[in-house]
Amino acid sequence: MTFITRFAPSPTGPLHLGHAYSALLSYDMAQAVNGRFLLRIEDTDVSRCRPYWEEQIYDDLGWLGLSWEQPVLCQSEHLERYNAKIIQLAEMGLIYPCSCSRSDIRAALSAPQEGVPPTTVYPGTCRHRDMCSRQPGDALRLNMERALEYVSSKQLEFLESGPKHAGMHIVSPQELQRSTGDAVLGRKEIETVSYVLAAVVDDAKQDITTIIRGEDLFDTTALQVLLQALLDLPTPHYHHHKLIRDNAGKRLAKRDDACAIAKYRADGLTPCDIRQKLGL
Ligand SMILES: [Zn+2]
Repeated sequence: MTFITRFAPSPTGPLHLGHAYSALLSYDMAQAVNGRFLLRIEDTDVSRCRPYWEEQIYDDLGWLGLSWEQPVLCQSEHLERYNAKIIQLAEMGLIYPCSCSRSDIRAALSAPQEGVPPTTVYPGTCRHRDMCSRQPGDALRLNMERALEYVSSKQLEFLESGPKHAGMHIVSPQELQRSTGDAVLGRKEIETVSYVLAAVVDDAKQDITTIIRGEDLFDTTALQVLLQALLDLPTPHYHHHKLIRDNAGKRLAKRDDACAIAKYRADGLTPCDIRQKLGL
């Protein structure tokens, strides 16, 4: 089986050292086994994505010495593909519309309910609603309990090769209920799917064998594995890598322009300097 991995940035700001680490590591791991390295632009959130940042991504990655297969998959061009999966899940009776605002959810969570342990996941206020009652602006949520029943005959598991969590992981339904609950799969702001569903659909579409990404996303893997099982898609291997932190030990964010690749380029650093900084 050919090793296939992807780097999947969102064009919402400059790439920083953390992105460079993820992209270079993915590229190197693919090169080491004669595998394939793909680039995917995760731009379904039109309110935050800009063509300028997409161009900057290509420019920075090229400068770092990476090359990738053409054409690049831009998610904004495939919304029908994700909506088809939403419809599929709806026909399975696994999703429902939700009109709750953040403050509705906070209020419901703080209302004491006898015998129900405290939780921070969505309390299920709209769970009784069916899809016919969907209004414009409603989010779409996964009915976690039903979804878990649906896949109860399957073993939910994934193989992890990253340094911190290496090994086989069994996804516990109870843990998914407790930590994730009725996850949003369709966003209310724009009529489109959540990041996690689009990513699962495209990982299968692009035959990704190994997902390489930061440790901060480790906990979202369980939901992805569940979605793969619900949609009859293969579960790839996962490799969660260390996070690159700034000098103060803080995780880098898109707004931290100080660590933007463009800034290092302007300062005259070379791609070798970047690799050295990152220990690659
Ligand atoms: Zn609701």
